[in-house]
Amino acid sequence: MATGSALVTGIGSGILPIPVPDDKIYVDYIFLNQTRFGFCMKSKILNFEPKCLKDYPGSDMVMFDSLTEEKDPRPEMWLVPATRGEPAVVNMRRPCLDILATVKDKQPWFGIEQEYFLEDNRGDLVGWLANHRNLKLRDFYGAVGMTPTAAIEREIAEVHSQACLHAGIKFAGINREDSPGQWEYQIGPTEGIAAADDLVMSRVLLDRVAEMYGYNVNYLPKPVEYCLPGSGVHINFSTEEMRQEGGIKYIRAAMERVASVDQDKLLECYDVKWGEENKKRLTGQYYVPDVSNFRMGVADKWASLRIPPLVAERNCGYFEERRPSSNCDIYTAIAAFTKAAMFGENY
Ligand code: ADP
Ligand code: MN
Ligand code: MN
Ligand code: MN
Ligand code: MN
Repeated sequence: MATGSALVTGIGSGILPIPVPDDKIYVDYIFLNQTRFGFCMKSKILNFEPKCLKDYPGSDMVMFDSLTEEKDPRPEMWLVPATRGEPAVVNMRRPCLDILATVKDKQPWFGIEQEYFLEDNRGDLVGWLANHRNLKLRDFYGAVGMTPTAAIEREIAEVHSQACLHAGIKFAGINREDSPGQWEYQIGPTEGIAAADDLVMSRVLLDRVAEMYGYNVNYLPKPVEYCLPGSGVHINFSTEEMRQEGGIKYIRAAMERVASVDQDKLLECYDVKWGEENKKRLTGQYYVPDVSNFRMGVADKWASLRIPPLVAERNCGYFEERRPSSNCDIYTAIAAFTKAAMFGENY
């Protein structure tokens, strides 16, 4: 199948070691649920390989092509579920695509970091020993071992990375994060909407891999009060100008444009709960930015916008928006960020 069509490679993707019979095609219908974040899934087994959108048999959720004008290489992923002809969920991909179209000549690249916690079948975060809750400094970043569940967590993270690569997602890496049971993976960099699309499908695959191990993925930015520093999504961004020699001046100009917009309105777009959940996380402590204190910095993990150390050294590259929530709607977040960074306007 076409690159990235995780939709039609789900069950047959090699996650399960049972081969799909040669004459059968498994088709997974994946649709956003009312949370604008979670997913539902239905699978169909076909005797033929669908070649285009029209070939896919209908389901009880009517699927609308959310794309009207632009031809998308992967349209089968972007259907809006609907009941009785009305869209049931707002899919923000189209408006995001519209904004990206206005900056297409700048060749914008996005790389996304996704942090998350794993929880067990009682709904408790995994890996937390009794004494961990009292520790102010938790040194799990990149750690090996140290908790009884580390091995199974790592297996989930690694199997997930393989599932993503198999599905054609541009997967960039994984690392253990600061807290017990907390991990991160990275996507990109890719031009335009692809990193956002890849992030969405990578979340589906993460849920499915965790499910196989009896675990659940907790994407809340602050799952429990004692978990410091909580989970975020970082948006790493560059244009062609920024990537060229001396590009740092374009990076700084874009950062200034982000600084010029209404920060509260911008933060609303960085969290599926319009900023409410993310506020609990943005404490200005433990490597997280402060919700009410916008700051730009070089190699500064408390900054809202950060120039990574290697970028400062080379005087070109990209910069990082560190505030989006781990449970952001990535299309809304990228649309709002791009409008701020390229036009100095709120979304
Ligand atoms: P850190 O944890 O130090 O913030 P990571 O290594 O976890 O950084 O993530 C770096 C992210 O930056 C990755 O998602 C990668 O795809 C992205 N990235 C790298 N180069 C670029 C670039 N030129 N433009 C946009 N994103 C980039
Ligand atoms: Mn039924
Ligand atoms: Mn990272
Ligand atoms: Mn991180
Ligand atoms: Mn980062």
